[in-house]
Amino acid sequence: MRTDMAALSQPVQATYDAIVIGAGIQGSFTAYHLAQRHRNTLLLEQFILPHSRGSSHGQSRIIRSTYAQAVYARMMPDSFRLWQQLEAEASTSLYRQTGLVVLGPAGDPDLESCRRSLDGGEVLSATTLAQQFPGLRIHAGEVALWDGTGGVLFADRALRAVQDVFRRHGGTLRDGEKVLRIEPGTMVTVITSAGVYQAPRVIIAAGAWTGALVAPLGLCLPLQPLRIDVCYWRKKDPGSPDMGRASPCFITTGLSQTPHSVYGLPALEYPGLVKVCYHYGSPTDPEERDQAPPGAPRPSIALLSRFISSYLPGLETQPAVVETCLYTNTPDEDFILDRHPQYSNIIIGAGFSGHGFKLAPVVGKLLCEMSLDEEPSHSVAPFAITRFPNVLRAAL
Ligand SMILES: Cc1cc2nc3c(=O)[nH]c(=O)nc-3n(C[C@H](O)[C@H](O)[C@H](O)COP(=O)(O)OP(=O)(O)OC[C@H]3O[C@@H](n4cnc5c(N)ncnc54)[C@H](O)[C@@H]3O)c2cc1C
Repeated sequence: MRTDMAALSQPVQATYDAIVIGAGIQGSFTAYHLAQRHRNTLLLEQFILPHSRGSSHGQSRIIRSTYAQAVYARMMPDSFRLWQQLEAEASTSLYRQTGLVVLGPAGDPDLESCRRSLDGGEVLSATTLAQQFPGLRIHAGEVALWDGTGGVLFADRALRAVQDVFRRHGGTLRDGEKVLRIEPGTMVTVITSAGVYQAPRVIIAAGAWTGALVAPLGLCLPLQPLRIDVCYWRKKDPGSPDMGRASPCFITTGLSQTPHSVYGLPALEYPGLVKVCYHYGSPTDPEERDQAPPGAPRPSIALLSRFISSYLPGLETQPAVVETCLYTNTPDEDFILDRHPQYSNIIIGAGFSGHGFKLAPVVGKLLCEMSLDEEPSHSVAPFAITRFPNVLRAAL
């Protein structure tokens, strides 16, 4: 096996039209769009695939039309369309429509924005909610908004599908190959643990590792990796439906007892275990995510136990299974989709802040368009790096 030092001294092995760093869902969709446009594309992944050390693993993610922020709501129809296109290309099903309930206090500004994003949306009374979804409770002063398009994306299957279609379009995916250094230039040089490659454009979609990868390029991005507890809860009565006859997904907004949202999906990964998680976690280093001592306090689980007693009384109040995953948050929880301020042929997609999976087909398209100097099909102004102060520093 070659050493890292050996790679650093190697001559350029191959030249591509584009190199994408990171084969999570965002990098994989970027590579897929580039390959569809007949660009000879190299997709590099540090770990052997499939792996569970980043943010895109697991079997389920929520997809929905409703969004409190209009910028994302506007992208969702395109995203649904592109997910369907991938399903057709890969001849596989990637989405189960379950519907989604947004729970929150009546008049909550985010809930109102969610309602607007659905052109009004259907508001369920407490009585209707109790009839349709008896496992799910709301309390006095709270309402439930119904998004019939909501559902579950089969995450692992989707990642495999997009990578398969990328390869079918002629793309090259090299896993177990870590990018060690990026050298800017008209042709950008990418030095990995196994080789040296060049391309006129490089797209960095390295998830929680993005900060470390761009620091030597003089960028200090405000990206905070968070360790997320992924919790599965057993039904008290194994024969009962998860949350109701149709077992919808749900998200909360504006509840005073949970400073960040709580979200839930019907049983999928483990028979009889419902996935309910807190949309926040503890700051971590992606290399040390799984090193928390077993007895360390996990505040999100205490908070979720209280939430479940109050809103999902059909579930036991201690999780049956707890796994971990990574978010990479920006201070405003909006994405970063932009060029490097000094090297315009290096494009960065990062900071998906725990809500990027559903939008990955559009994110990949935007990163592809930016890298090809095409007009982005959605405005990328809200995702500019320069919205944050002091991001530039001397290159290392
Ligand atoms: C528990 C959990 C639940 C979520 N639920 C939802 C949801 O319901 N709906 C939704 O829309 N979103 C959800 N998300 C968010 C969504 O999953 C993420 O936004 C998305 O997966 C981020 O993808 P990514 O490609 O940016 O990161 P990653 O998947 O982490 O991919 C980055 C890749 O880059 C690789 N890499 C890093 N450095 C290098 C290097 N130097 N060389 C080569 N490769 C490198 C990494 O190994 C990794 O594979 C959830 C996330 C989690 C963790």
